[in-house]
Amino acid sequence: MYKINSNFQKLPGSYLFSDIARKVAAFAEANPQADIIRLGIGDVTRPLTPTIIKAMHDAVDEMGTEEGFHGYAPDLGYDFLRDAIAGEYKDRGVDVSADEIFVSDGAKSDSAAIQELFSQDTRIAVTDPVYPVYVDSNVMAGRCGNWDAKKEQWSDIIYLPVTAENDFVPEFPSQIPDVVYLCLPNNPTGTTLTKDQLQDWVDWANRNGVLIIFDAAYEAYISQPDVPHSIYECRGARACAIELRSFSKNAGFTGVRLGFTVLPRDIVQGGISLHDMWARRHGTKFNGAPYITQRAGQAVYSDQGQREIRELVAYYMKNAKIIHDGLAEAGFEVYGGVNAPYIWLKAPGNMSSWDFFDYLLREVNIVGTPGSGFGPSGEHYFRLTAFGSYENTLRAVERIGKMKV
Ligand SMILES: *Cc1c(COP(=O)(O)O)cnc(C)c1O
Repeated sequence: MYKINSNFQKLPGSYLFSDIARKVAAFAEANPQADIIRLGIGDVTRPLTPTIIKAMHDAVDEMGTEEGFHGYAPDLGYDFLRDAIAGEYKDRGVDVSADEIFVSDGAKSDSAAIQELFSQDTRIAVTDPVYPVYVDSNVMAGRCGNWDAKKEQWSDIIYLPVTAENDFVPEFPSQIPDVVYLCLPNNPTGTTLTKDQLQDWVDWANRNGVLIIFDAAYEAYISQPDVPHSIYECRGARACAIELRSFSKNAGFTGVRLGFTVLPRDIVQGGISLHDMWARRHGTKFNGAPYITQRAGQAVYSDQGQREIRELVAYYMKNAKIIHDGLAEAGFEVYGGVNAPYIWLKAPGNMSSWDFFDYLLREVNIVGTPGSGFGPSGEHYFRLTAFGSYENTLRAVERIGKMKV
């Protein structure tokens, strides 16, 4: 008789997005005339840009020829893409070589899989709130202890609250974890750390033998000069940090699927290279990202590709500014939206995240995401995203501005 992995049964079920969908569907059915605007969306909406489409078309044509056909891609990615990525790091003055880049089908898979490199008794820390994949992947691996429904926390995870009280700068935990996940700029708060603040984390990690998993999925949205795009801009990070990157949010590849991990050769534990382990893991469990997709990724790094994706990002960031400034003007306590496409606001009158969700849907027919869905410290907060259309964003902010709370 087979036995299931009982760790799955421990998951309280992150029904966040299905709960939202259910509530919105019920509201729409009861109020068929309501013009609902969705600002809860965590997915890009603008089409792929011409340079990327051209590269994909060309690659498709190549695949139909004898000389241009490509079968299995190299496990770690084609050199043309790894070289282009390494070139971008070099342009930033960052020391990352092409053979430290592992091309994948996206940062979600990488962020969920990276925990395979660590022992069962590894103690992990996460900022709270944060992208739920880090925690759930470790729960599935049996690493987080038990779920405390009252505290809404796992017994064996170290939580690093990021709230308005600490200016969204996590404090060093008194209990030292083995691995800490940092997502910067952060989903869902839209806040980030300056280079000096991140340097403190790198120094702390090196002093304490902690490994940092640094998710930089939103680096393209950074607008302020003192915010690092890569953790390797900090001294000593090559010895203690793995960086995850994605083409989803900068180039709109959420449906195309492409990402990469940077794993420096300097990360060695007990004489074992984590770079070699990750290469071994890729070779066994992953057969390479598609050729057509990697050609699309290469096009992102061309001069014209860069111009086009900067326009894409600018489109969303214009929305972010409209939401941020509009809400601030309407008297809301607002955060984020400057270096990330997420606006994080405090629900007025100490309303719970879900009460504010219902209120916003009912009063002005706007859908957002309750902050409590991203971790216990997200309670009383609410996330709006800049991924809607410009027109809908304007209309939504106008409605919220007229709202009486
Ligand atoms: C969207 C997102 C990703 C990207 O995932 P892909 O699998 O590359 O689409 C990774 N991390 C965070 C925090 C995200 O919000």
